[in-house]
Amino acid sequence: MDRRNFSRSVLLSGLAIPALKTGYQPFEEQPQLYKENPMKLPVREFDVVVAGGGTAGVVAAIAAARQGAKTALVEGKGYPGGTVVEGGTALHSFFNLWKAFPGVEKRQVVKGIPQEIIDRLLVIGGTTGHAEVTGRIDYDSACTAIDTELYKLVVFEMLSEAGVNIFVNTLVAGAVRKGASVEGVITQSRIGRELFRGKCFVDTTAYGDLSAWAGAEFIELNDHPVCNSMGIGNVNIEKLFTYLTKNNAVGDIAYGLRDGKEGQIIRMGSESGYLIRDKLPKEFVDGVEKLGSGLITTTVHDNYLMFIKVNYKMAESPTNRDEVAKAELIIRQNQYKTLELFKKYLPGCENAFIARTSPSLNIRRGRTITCDYDITSEDVLEGRHFDDDIMAYGFHDEAPKYRIKNGGTYGIPYKALRVKGIDNLLASGMMITTNRHAHMSTRNTVCCMGQGQAAGTAAAICAAKGVGTRSLLYADLKDALLKNNVHLEV
Ligand SMILES: Cc1cc2nc3c(=O)[nH]c(=O)nc-3n(C[C@H](O)[C@H](O)[C@H](O)COP(=O)(O)OP(=O)(O)OC[C@H]3O[C@@H](n4cnc5c(N)ncnc54)[C@H](O)[C@@H]3O)c2cc1C
Repeated sequence: MDRRNFSRSVLLSGLAIPALKTGYQPFEEQPQLYKENPMKLPVREFDVVVAGGGTAGVVAAIAAARQGAKTALVEGKGYPGGTVVEGGTALHSFFNLWKAFPGVEKRQVVKGIPQEIIDRLLVIGGTTGHAEVTGRIDYDSACTAIDTELYKLVVFEMLSEAGVNIFVNTLVAGAVRKGASVEGVITQSRIGRELFRGKCFVDTTAYGDLSAWAGAEFIELNDHPVCNSMGIGNVNIEKLFTYLTKNNAVGDIAYGLRDGKEGQIIRMGSESGYLIRDKLPKEFVDGVEKLGSGLITTTVHDNYLMFIKVNYKMAESPTNRDEVAKAELIIRQNQYKTLELFKKYLPGCENAFIARTSPSLNIRRGRTITCDYDITSEDVLEGRHFDDDIMAYGFHDEAPKYRIKNGGTYGIPYKALRVKGIDNLLASGMMITTNRHAHMSTRNTVCCMGQGQAAGTAAAICAAKGVGTRSLLYADLKDALLKNNVHLEV
């Protein structure tokens, strides 16, 4: 038997399955110590260095470059985008929660570069647009779903057009401090290690890698499951939707643009156990709950579920490499089992297959970096604004239990982005805000994007004026944000 036929017969006979059962075997030997020789690194000079080209980082880099700063974006993967193209189901939220508060006016509260991304996606069929939610309207009022692959392309092009120096497949592997400032970022790529010197830095790595390397204070709460969301292909959306509707098992519903046609179902779903318990077969509900799988999904294409989440609660923080390796295997096993449940129990999914997974698991929180101000749950829920607001935001991921007062907004203050104790480092994205209920709002995609625009703009102004982040005049920042179509409520 040749090698290919042998492999095939092993697979068919099921002999390959034990790999699924044995689990990840950690490398347990204690490491010996090796003294690395000091080496001279090539140095590149920038005004602004943005570490991490994800949800917030992309927007930060575009904003900094448009302000005229010579900007570097350092991204570990081969494409920009981050968790917005890997984790979530819809972009929460450009709007206030107007539908849940009768009489409250519909308002778009996040605009600027985040909205430009949506406009660009619309042109090439990469988004549903801002579709209104029906059905369960107490959670979000609008659903903005995206094509994950086209999002990567669009933001890559926007970065390039803005003149950002884009370094993909390049890791931030260290930081060099000079007194209270960061002097540079050590990068690691296939061409080796380099030093990216900068005048001002933005940490948008989600894990807080740059801040941690630079010696900032942080905590690791490990208070959320990690996840790998998958795209499932070959699904008859209408058949599935009819089945869920018949069983009264649909939560939020939204109709919008799908494959160029208006009025198509683009969001449907329920949290497993929340609305579907007793409505769908017990074996299915028990199965998806045990696997940590979600049913809520969005799509911009016929026959495709863009995001099916498979969650897993790790015993330790996701900065622990070896624990992550275990989780990566378990989640992939659970994705396969989830698919099997979908095929068996959900009409429309009989012939489904896994079309996309994230290259690595996604986190909801890694390190939380200590900043000059820590946004509280009262700030968020009471709808407080600050005299140094950099954006307004109106969505809360725990709605309807927690939501912003009267369907309004709260403000993210500039001081919440300034990394404590470091003169030229800003943070934005999921790694600000220690309070769990505040974070359940600030960590959402559109909020991260808005923070990114402010952080990139502020970093560029600091670099141009030769001042630290605490000496930046808020009036200058506000003026630049307003000129670039950011919506402020103060
Ligand atoms: C499973 C899941 C579901 C979610 N669902 C939703 C949802 O439906 N709607 C919503 O609005 N929000 C949702 N969220 C929340 C939201 O997606 C994230 O909080 C948000 O996208 C985080 O943005 P960020 O910029 O902080 O991080 P990211 O988008 O993760 O960006 C970080 C970037 O930094 C890069 N990076 C990390 N370390 C390094 C390094 N050392 N060197 C170089 N690059 C590095 C990463 O590769 C990545 O590109 C979800 C999150 C998860 C995990």
